[in-house]
Amino acid sequence: MVNNHPDTEGYLRLTRRKPTKRKSQDLIMDRHIQLFIGKFLNGELETINPVLDSKLGYRYQDAEPFVDDPTEAEAFLLMLHENSLLTSEPCGIIACCSKCGSYSVDEVLGEKRKPSRNGSASGNSWRCLRCGELLQEDTLTLRPVFSYRFSREGIDGVSDQLLVRPLLEFLRDRGYRIESPGTLVGASEVDHTFDITAYSKKDEWVVALDFVISDGPVGEENVISMFAKVFDANPLRSILVVFPELTEKAKKLADQYEIDVVETHNLDIIWKNLRRVIPPVDEFSFETLDVMTLLSLPDHLRKTASVVCEKGRTTADEISQITKRARAVESGYLNQLVRMGYLKKERKGRLVLFSVIS
Ligand SMILES: [Zn+2]
Repeated sequence: MVNNHPDTEGYLRLTRRKPTKRKSQDLIMDRHIQLFIGKFLNGELETINPVLDSKLGYRYQDAEPFVDDPTEAEAFLLMLHENSLLTSEPCGIIACCSKCGSYSVDEVLGEKRKPSRNGSASGNSWRCLRCGELLQEDTLTLRPVFSYRFSREGIDGVSDQLLVRPLLEFLRDRGYRIESPGTLVGASEVDHTFDITAYSKKDEWVVALDFVISDGPVGEENVISMFAKVFDANPLRSILVVFPELTEKAKKLADQYEIDVVETHNLDIIWKNLRRVIPPVDEFSFETLDVMTLLSLPDHLRKTASVVCEKGRTTADEISQITKRARAVESGYLNQLVRMGYLKKERKGRLVLFSVIS
C-alpha cells in the first residue's frame, strides 16, 4: 500500500519518528539531568510514578523539581527515556476530551456519577468540564500513562560524564550526610536550593555545593548567583565545582566572595581536587583558640582573635570599635579566621556573629 502512495518518500518522512535523541554529551551538560540522576545514585529515587491531578490529569511530582514548569516533567522523562537513561512501562489509562484534550471529564447521565479516570467507559456519556463537549464512549480519548524507572545500564553508559556521581561518592566517603538538591533557609527566611548540601554528623553545620558543567570556561555569573544564595543562607563553607574551569575574572570574584572553587578537566580524578578543599567530616578542623594558637597567629589576626576570645561572641562592628580598625578590615580578618577553622560564623537576622568554637 505504501508503494502505491503518490509520495512515498514524503509520507515516510512525515511518519518517521521525530529524532529526539540528543547527543549524550549535550544531555549530560544539563545540570538538571545530572541532579535528577543523582537522586537515583543516592538511592532516593528508583521509579517515577504518575499521580492523579485534577488540573493536569496526572503529573510526575518526582521530576518536577528538575524542570521549570510541572507541565514539562513528562517531556523531560520522555527525553531521558529516548536516551536510554530511563525505562518505561504503562501503568494505567486516563480519559481525556477528544476535542480540547482536557482531563477534566465527568461521566454524566449514568446511574451514579463517578470520575472517569478508571478508563472503563461504561456506555454512558461524558462531559468535558473545560470546553463543555459531550463525549460518547467511542469519542472519549483514552491515553496510556507510563511510569518510569532509572536504567542502571543507561546510566553506566554515561558515567564518565557524570559529575554528580564522583561528587556524591566523595562526600559520602568522607562521612557527610548529603541532600541533593538541598535547601537552606536564609536569614531572610527565603529558601535557597543548592545542588548538594553536605551536613556534619549531628547536622551542626553544613557545606553548600553548586556545580557547573560547560564546554568552555565558565563566567562570573555562576559565581554571582551562588553568592546571592550563600550571603543569605550562610553555610559554613560554600564550594563551586566547575567542569572544566572558571574564567580568570570569575576566579577572582569567587575569591573575593570566599567561595571555594574546585575545577577539573577530568572527572576520573576530580577527587584529587575535592580532597584539597573538603576534609573528612571528622577532620573538619575547628581549632581551639588557646594561648599557643593565638601566639602563632600573625599580629593583625591575633588582635582580632583576642577580642573574640574575650567577648565570646561578637560582631565586626564591635571589634572595630575596640581595635580602632575599619569595620571592613575586621570583617576580612574575621572571615579569614573562620576559613582557618578558628571561628564560627552565624547569622542572626541582620547581624553576623563570630564566636570561638568550643
Ligand atoms: Zn474539552
